[in-house]
Amino acid sequence: MKSHSMQISFRCTAKTDPDEFRTISVAWPNFELSCDCDGFNGVICSHIDATLVAGERAMVPEEDWDLADQAMVSVQDLILVPPDWRGAWRQDLVWRGFTSVRRGPRRIVGEDGKPVVCFTGAMPRPRKSLIAEAEAAGWDAVDNPHSKLDVLVAADPNGKSAKLAFARKNGIPVLTFSEWGSLTIDGEIVQ
Ligand SMILES: [Zn+2]
Repeated sequence: MKSHSMQISFRCTAKTDPDEFRTISVAWPNFELSCDCDGFNGVICSHIDATLVAGERAMVPEEDWDLADQAMVSVQDLILVPPDWRGAWRQDLVWRGFTSVRRGPRRIVGEDGKPVVCFTGAMPRPRKSLIAEAEAAGWDAVDNPHSKLDVLVAADPNGKSAKLAFARKNGIPVLTFSEWGSLTIDGEIVQ
């Protein structure tokens, strides 16, 4: 058997400065995962959690999306997130690509310029009432994700459904039901 050595590196935007990047690398045949940020503890950091565990892409420059996807496939189920890990990055909706507050070409185009939300999976409460509440709060709720979607609210954000895959592929933040409950229309999660 020949052993294949391989390394995949991709960039991830720094949370503190959108013009700065951290570099995440996965090396084989001995599984070695690293990020060059200060927060990397040898196992995980926000950048790795967001891009390789949660599969989010808004913080990865588009030219690096293929590399990030390859890296994610290669580390599937190998990243053991410590139980005491606090994924504080989940609250940083701007970093996660919440479109209505992001500067750049992708702006909200929902009905009447409203931010757009979609729900997926079995929610704790009936979908109909969630949609009614979202609309009352100023959101446009849609049944299927499209590229201008602002947030996808998922029963299981780490699931593998087509809606989740679409959101990841298009850099749309995926929120848990509880995150959705504390999300303001400006894209801030208020604790
Ligand atoms: Zn990092």
